Amino acid sequence: MNIVRAAAPHLEDMVAYDPQYLPAKAFLSANENARDISESLRDMIAEKVALTPFNRYPDPLANDLRDQIACAYGLERDQVLVGNGGDELLFNLVLAWGGPGRKLLNVPPTFSVYTHNATLTGTEVVNVRRREDLTIDEEAVLERVSQGDIDCIVIASPNNPSGDLVDQRFIRRLLSETDALVLVDEAYYEFADVSTLPLLSEHKNLVILHTFSKAYRLAAVRLGYVLAHVDVVKELIKVRQPYSVDRVSQVIGSCVFERRAEFVQEIDEIIERRESLYASLIRLNRVQVYPSDANYLLIKVEGAHEIWEKLYERGVLVRDFSSTPGLENCLRVSVGSPEENALFLKEFTTIVQGDLI
Ligand SMILES: *Cc1c(COP(=O)(O)O)cnc(C)c1O
Repeated sequence: MNIVRAAAPHLEDMVAYDPQYLPAKAFLSANENARDISESLRDMIAEKVALTPFNRYPDPLANDLRDQIACAYGLERDQVLVGNGGDELLFNLVLAWGGPGRKLLNVPPTFSVYTHNATLTGTEVVNVRRREDLTIDEEAVLERVSQGDIDCIVIASPNNPSGDLVDQRFIRRLLSETDALVLVDEAYYEFADVSTLPLLSEHKNLVILHTFSKAYRLAAVRLGYVLAHVDVVKELIKVRQPYSVDRVSQVIGSCVFERRAEFVQEIDEIIERRESLYASLIRLNRVQVYPSDANYLLIKVEGAHEIWEKLYERGVLVRDFSSTPGLENCLRVSVGSPEENALFLKEFTTIVQGDLI
């Protein structure tokens, strides 16, 4: 037969996630770390990978890596779950706490993967929009949650793409005033050094998400983890793909986690570069820059889409959010290497000041 019946109806209006991966001289659109792992770490990994059996399935739960992570945070192994990137764990969240007839509270503009996953699982999304300055409307969230019908909540801190941190007092209130599962997405917390972790022991409804993709330079490997109560982890284990984290990734994750202290200095350098980029950008006329605690900056500028095109023609790829509701005229630029940042700044300044738009 040369025809096929239609896919499930909820896919009809869906568009596949598009990371806008285009080749460029300065690739500043995905918030990756501009630097690859060190030679000595690469050697350590190569040695361990060479000894890895490829014919056997991996440990489904990556228990060695779980133990390392648990130990570092003073938790039990059963409070940690490793996933195929943070993205898989975000999907597991709605598989376990969402589904038809259930509700996810979302605070847009934020990471689009949350609503994408909700659509896939038939979870209803309740949006409480951020304020004009892109900070969370805390009272509106608490008010909406008080209706008692929300099953799970996801909040990114720092938020992607606005870069702001959530107020920990607000998270504490939220965790106390609802029994909904609250996932705090801390994909960028290493750049902010603020974590909701201290609240974990008092709040069974808290889940914290971390990733190896940003500060730890492993975007290619696909590794993330959640920290949560044992009962929450137990449910998340039920919905996950048993072998989602392959053995090679487990080995690489273990090596990087063991040597994570080696990354601290560069994280500080990224923060310095972010601040210097911020300082240069706010001096430009007509350009608004949001203060950021992550490794990227959100910029608001008239004609953003045209500026994005001009930047790309000049070899600089940033992320265009100009067609996202609430982010009109916004571009997000990742903090890259000093050379990449300099190229971006030079071209951006020329385009904006030269009235090339
Ligand atoms: C990058 C990112 C993640 C996780 O990415 P993975 O590469 O799948 O680990 C999660 N949340 C936010 C907000 C991100 O930007």
